[in-house]
Amino acid sequence: MTLAIDVKGLNKSFGDKHVVQDVELQLEEGRICGFLGPNGSGKTTTLRMLCGLLTPDSGEGRCLGFDILAQSEAIKRRTGYMTQRFSLYEDLTIQENLQFTARVYGLDRRRERVAEALRGLGLYERRNQLAGALSGGWKQRLALATATMHEPKLLLLDEPTAGVDPKARRTFWDEIHKLSATGLTVLVSTHYMDEAERCHEIAYISYGKLIARGTAESVIEQSHLVTLHGEGPGIDRLSAEIAARPGVEMAAPFGAALHVSGQDKAALEAAIAPWRREPFHWKEVAPTLEDVFIHLMGRSQDNYQ
Ligand code: ADP
Repeated sequence: MTLAIDVKGLNKSFGDKHVVQDVELQLEEGRICGFLGPNGSGKTTTLRMLCGLLTPDSGEGRCLGFDILAQSEAIKRRTGYMTQRFSLYEDLTIQENLQFTARVYGLDRRRERVAEALRGLGLYERRNQLAGALSGGWKQRLALATATMHEPKLLLLDEPTAGVDPKARRTFWDEIHKLSATGLTVLVSTHYMDEAERCHEIAYISYGKLIARGTAESVIEQSHLVTLHGEGPGIDRLSAEIAARPGVEMAAPFGAALHVSGQDKAALEAAIAPWRREPFHWKEVAPTLEDVFIHLMGRSQDNYQ
């Protein structure tokens, strides 16, 4: 087993704000890890420390076998980084964007590489169009092509699909899986549950602290969350009333059903007792990843106050 990322004790403060606190992360080569957590919890800052764009205040470790403090240039050269804002030049053509990247990285066989990338994207015929004229999904695929043109070993994606429609997101994720199958390691921050489920593993960070880590199944299991699924006419309208009862951490409509979650099963049963009768029906179900994330968010907010 080779670890592409192996860091511990990462800390970073901006002024008196301690935004990344003792973060430890190991990720095996070729894996896709989803980085989740509320806004402002330190995901971008952690990604930037991993690829050498930002120096941690303390901490140590290796990325791609290189020391994160002493060999950040070597890590940078082997890392692809794509941010939410696409990192494209909208007033250059599609082809010019790729040519520009190829030059910045000092790549050999530039003409061939650019043509290969254009064909791979299915944009060869449209190569002379301005990148700014592409739809969101295409822009994002072009940005991915520019971020991977230098054949990085590690790909860091910071909310790459924010604001992109579900079909384009799916195509993008197919692409990510293809890249990971070639041995590329991917760390991707996202707010989308369907994307979290497509990752091999997940890291959940909240207020700078890594509070859950593992496969989706193991993160769900570690949460010790119990979820009751209720159905019946108008049950979704009971969410506020049930959410206010003791022992309920979350009561949220799921389509026409209601999911009620908490860690104490007896308290949950007591909370729904007034509605445990016809025409309502309840059963215990496995919590979804979304149930677990809402639970984790609530718990860390409590710790913070
Ligand atoms: P996330 O990616 O999870 O949304 P960030 O890592 O971007 O979180 O930010 C974590 C916190 O650090 C936020 O409160 C943000 O305002 C702050 N922060 C990030 N970068 C800087 C910076 N360069 N200077 C000052 N504060 C920053």
